[in-house]
Amino acid sequence: MWDDDKPHEECGVFGVFNNQQATDLTYLGLYALQHRGQESAGIAVSNGEIIRMHKAMGLVAEAFENGAALEHLKGHIALGHNRYSTTGNSQILNAQPILIKYKRGQLASAHNGNLINVGTLRMMMEDEGSIFQSTADSEIVVHLVARSQEETVPEMIADALGHVEGAYSFLFMTDTQLIGVRDPHGFRPLCIGKTDESYFMASESCAFDIMDAEYVRDVEPGEIVVIDENGLHSFFPFEPAKPSFCIFEYIYFARPDSKVFGENVDKPRRRFGRRLAQEHPIEADVVIAVPDSANTAALGYSEESGIRFEIGLIRNHYLGRTFIDPNQAVRERKVKLKFNTVKGVLKGKRVVLVDDSIVRGTTLKQLVRLVRQSGAAEVHVRVSSPPIQNPCFYGIDMQTKGELIAVNQAEDEVDQVRQFIGADSLGYLSIEGLLQIATEFGSENAGYCSACFSGEYPMTPREDVNKMLLENKCSG
Ligand code: SF4
Repeated sequence: MWDDDKPHEECGVFGVFNNQQATDLTYLGLYALQHRGQESAGIAVSNGEIIRMHKAMGLVAEAFENGAALEHLKGHIALGHNRYSTTGNSQILNAQPILIKYKRGQLASAHNGNLINVGTLRMMMEDEGSIFQSTADSEIVVHLVARSQEETVPEMIADALGHVEGAYSFLFMTDTQLIGVRDPHGFRPLCIGKTDESYFMASESCAFDIMDAEYVRDVEPGEIVVIDENGLHSFFPFEPAKPSFCIFEYIYFARPDSKVFGENVDKPRRRFGRRLAQEHPIEADVVIAVPDSANTAALGYSEESGIRFEIGLIRNHYLGRTFIDPNQAVRERKVKLKFNTVKGVLKGKRVVLVDDSIVRGTTLKQLVRLVRQSGAAEVHVRVSSPPIQNPCFYGIDMQTKGELIAVNQAEDEVDQVRQFIGADSLGYLSIEGLLQIATEFGSENAGYCSACFSGEYPMTPREDVNKMLLENKCSG
């Protein structure tokens, strides 16, 4: 993967209710959410009587053969899914949506997140005779729905999700309903949009903009939203839990033109950059970003420091995700293929290079070298998040400590990272700064998970779950 030095979100979901172009709009919605998952894509569509589905490996365009595969998907309710998974889980059997036939008819589901008690549940269900098609945790949920004795489908879903723990934003579709659910902690985002006739639900609001839909609100933590011929209604069947929205959505995952957790992502992201400049000032001539994800934070750093923002690195957007390095010589040049420098901007300058996060540091090390090769007199790296010290168990592919370069904020450890990446200085945003800014933003009930920085997990994964996660057996 070109972006193998960044954490990855594991999925994006999108749904439409009451629109004759539901399939096409879902296809476009998945395009807008492509950054949330690039390994497989799928759409399920209902015409009110039957649900049809297409899913395949690859980016949205590849999975739908540039739109040709949409032909047989006709209907007015649809849901779609983009998936990213860690190696080993990347197979068509794990692609979503999942579509089942059971006693109530058909049910399609799409999941963003990660369930942390699936190991135990799965073993229990297999002992009782359940047969699973995939290794995805989401499949367990549809099994649980199918077993439920509750009366209505939304109640069956509530019953099923009452057995699982972890992070989930789910979309479900019956032949006549679109149903959205966010876990009681609200780890992953899910929002509702509307036009005159249609409802939409998506991981991020940027997907609504393509269809001129208005952002209405977030699905609340612990809420089940049902959209059917009677309109939108909702209920809260779960025990309330401490809000734990993933702070990394503000730092890196969500697009800056999206609203997530009730906030325009651009705002906190820019403030992280401003705070970074206050915490780690430096005498320099230009501020540049690692494009595209650090652009907004770099602008914030520039505004606060008064140091001019320049475009110093150019990213090549046209490299195929599936580009294979044929040999070592090509491999060594792949960062140069992905990024190039604007030499006139860098030559002889003291450069502040802003990135949003460091996982392994390997790409950043090569970027620092590139910037120096282009004549920069000094390279000062500033990171708009704290050192990532801990794995994530809630749907992000940082599942072992061994994947992480930074161990803690201690000066000597930060200096080891500085030496590794070859920078003249290195400064991370503090956890206090990060949390202080995040709490100024977001919806009234916002509260944040920052476990990968602080080690304070809202829910503790159990030993067996840890084992499963480390073996990459149950990512959503
Ligand atoms: S551990 Fe980090 S990446 Fe995972 S949900 Fe919490 S803040 Fe997000």
